[in-house]
Amino acid sequence: MKASRANVYFASARVLKWRHEESLPGRLERLMEKLDLQKRFMPGEWVAVKTHFGSPGAHRVIGPAFLSRVVAALKAAGAKPFVTDTVRINGLDYLEVANQNGINHLSVGAPVVLADGLYGRDNIIVPAGEILGEVAVSTLIHDAPAMVVCSHIKGHINAGYAGAIKNLAMGGVSASHRVRGWKCGRGAMHSLGEGKLFWDEEKCELCYQCEEVCPLECISFGPEGKKFQYEDERCWRCGRCTRVCPGQAIAHEEAAPGEFMRSLAEAAGAVLGTFRPGKVVYLNFLTGIQPECDCMPGADVPVIQDKGILASDDLVAIEKASIDMLRGSAPLPESAAASNGGENEKKTDILLELHKKDYLIQIEHALKLGLGTADYDLIPI
Ligand code: SF4
Ligand code: SF4
Repeated sequence: MKASRANVYFASARVLKWRHEESLPGRLERLMEKLDLQKRFMPGEWVAVKTHFGSPGAHRVIGPAFLSRVVAALKAAGAKPFVTDTVRINGLDYLEVANQNGINHLSVGAPVVLADGLYGRDNIIVPAGEILGEVAVSTLIHDAPAMVVCSHIKGHINAGYAGAIKNLAMGGVSASHRVRGWKCGRGAMHSLGEGKLFWDEEKCELCYQCEEVCPLECISFGPEGKKFQYEDERCWRCGRCTRVCPGQAIAHEEAAPGEFMRSLAEAAGAVLGTFRPGKVVYLNFLTGIQPECDCMPGADVPVIQDKGILASDDLVAIEKASIDMLRGSAPLPESAAASNGGENEKKTDILLELHKKDYLIQIEHALKLGLGTADYDLIPI
């Protein structure tokens, strides 16, 4: 049974003494001790370290200075860790992205592997809930007996706030299933019904950014380069094309905002349902808090000052604590959130201001699904 209150441990990013133990990587080492890894994981047990590898140009992911500490702590506890993520673009290119972002076996001290294979089709369908019905959970995450979910906190165009729930949902589920296609994949969260793409010629600037970001190269503009076309059968409904379009000339039938958030919580629950209780712990990195997702083709400057790292064994508690920490921050100067250059900026809910999405729906639905507790004690280390 879930505790009525959860502990959330906090390592601040502020460095007040010039000692390794007081650096953020040094504090992460102490944070890992709070998670009782030796009691939680069996000797020799395989532990997935779930992170996000980023994107070509999106470099503000959790780097090797931190992942290597997580791996080292797991090894010291006798476990066998591997670092993993699901395929977002073609698998070979995605491993190159990981490597360019500094994430490889040598840098982190453990194998770096794709959770759903080079083609992103190694997955297992599991029941999800009322909205999604079923989702295709990546095989490695499905079969792993234990997991450390390392989430880089940032904004998101549809989710408003992107943290551990989104990392589990979008990052634990594949883009597509080899028979059922995108309908039990990530795309089912991005879009409703058939999720057809619509193009508005009047709004289109013919900038071709949509064509450039499509991971499947299924967008083209005809022989004269003026008419948007896409291959509906192959499209993953990943939403990358719609997100980069400057004129909002393309859109797919999106789920209502509340439904999208609820589907994230549902998919996170489906992924967690493949683990025994107590076998998943969370690290939320409130650093390099950029306005958009790590799967975008670039990473804008951070909008909120680095806060530090949170650790817990409760999904809802760590998400609520992260949000509580971010709310009421002042926007960073010269960032997308700064309205007047950062001078005398008022403290506000920056992610809400940026994306106008009621991101708390994710937390409320996760709570309703019994994925944790919103009552927590914040324990600075
Ligand atoms: S949603 Fe857009 S970018 Fe994604 S696969 Fe479909 S056409 Fe390509
Ligand atoms: S990204 Fe949007 S504006 Fe640019 S070519 Fe594609 S549809 Fe047109």
